[in-house]
Amino acid sequence: MSGFERRGGELTLDGVSLAQVAQRFGTPCYVYSRSMIEAAFRQFDTGLAGVDHLVCYAVKANSNLAILDALGRLGAGFDIVSGGELARVLAAGQSAGRVIFSGVGKSEAEIRGALAARIKCFNVESEPELERLDALAAEAGVRAPVSLRINPDVDARTHPYISTGLAGNKFGIPHAHALAVYRRAASMANIRVAGIGCHIGSQILETSPMDEALERVLDLVDALALEGIGLEHLDLGGGFGIRYRDETPPDIGAHCARLAARLKGRGFQVMLEPGRAIVGPAGALLTRVEYLKLDKEKRFAVVDASMSELIRPALYESWHDIVAVGPDQGRAAGRYDVVGPVCESSDVLGFDRDLAVAAGDLLAILSAGAYGMVMASNYNSRPRPCEVLVDAGRAIEVRAREGVDSLFALEKRLPPR
Ligand SMILES: *Cc1c(COP(=O)(O)O)cnc(C)c1O
Repeated sequence: MSGFERRGGELTLDGVSLAQVAQRFGTPCYVYSRSMIEAAFRQFDTGLAGVDHLVCYAVKANSNLAILDALGRLGAGFDIVSGGELARVLAAGQSAGRVIFSGVGKSEAEIRGALAARIKCFNVESEPELERLDALAAEAGVRAPVSLRINPDVDARTHPYISTGLAGNKFGIPHAHALAVYRRAASMANIRVAGIGCHIGSQILETSPMDEALERVLDLVDALALEGIGLEHLDLGGGFGIRYRDETPPDIGAHCARLAARLKGRGFQVMLEPGRAIVGPAGALLTRVEYLKLDKEKRFAVVDASMSELIRPALYESWHDIVAVGPDQGRAAGRYDVVGPVCESSDVLGFDRDLAVAAGDLLAILSAGAYGMVMASNYNSRPRPCEVLVDAGRAIEVRAREGVDSLFALEKRLPPR
């Protein structure tokens, strides 16, 4: 299913030469495959075909308008975590009626904006948030559709920084308090109880914690039904892992089909919020080797990408495959730390990589479609890179490289004394 393929020794994406993409748009540069993104979405969508469902793409994984547009055309909903993401979804021509709003810290302005846009549902993460939402909905003269995000207290067995479903975590409402909070929600004049949800973490490689979370949530659904609180939808979150190195990701189609079978006939819409699994494998960061720095102790390949463009290795110690774009030229391989120009020792994109490279060569950092560009910063005053979408044999620039002037366009010098 991967569109990354060697042709004549040269790395291509859906038949498009990545060397030519780099030549045309410069480096560093993110490049994505539309067909891979669509195929990944369809695995969820087709897997759930047996039940009423809505696959809400987690916008924070990669929020480029072209990607939102492509997914929207397939019928995706959108899981957002900020007013900025809502603005992006709307700017991509998508309907607010397919937007759900997650996150622990929704501000008054963000809630007002989402109420005005008439989003599908607020995934509420605390009682104070519920009170704020009720008050703001009253002000706006509407009833706010609400789903409570339950913290089911199951261990997703993933990296602690991206685990979100354990007791003591900042996310969600503890399972033990859920019934009480639902009773309150049901009694509020400007709240409409619409659903229930959970999201237990990210880069999850085993589906058993997800199954466990589902059963914990279904217990609550049954308890709520006994109290006459009915629900329209059940949202099982995202978190599906992908292969970065040698992981075996879950079979999405099979998992979704099992979900559909488990939930068939219960009468609610089934929702998922996948991000990484839809865009992660479909993207690469192209970078050029500036120097080979050969010290006694260590050999470094200094490249023109850095933690400013891709922070995951520095932030989570995550591994991304790094491969040469060009054909094998029979050079001797050396073992390099692939490092960027940023002034931090943690600015390492990959430790101990065996590469047969020379200065000027192009490298591709793989599985970089999720949590890559969205986490890019201007640290060290580096303009953010461009993004290119490969679509039916064409390479389309879907975000231009930032200019140096935009780095300080919002800043001011001191007024005269
Ligand atoms: C981040 C997030 C997701 C998406 O997680 P992935 O691991 O990218 O699938 C889904 N739902 C919520 C609430 C999130 O915070």
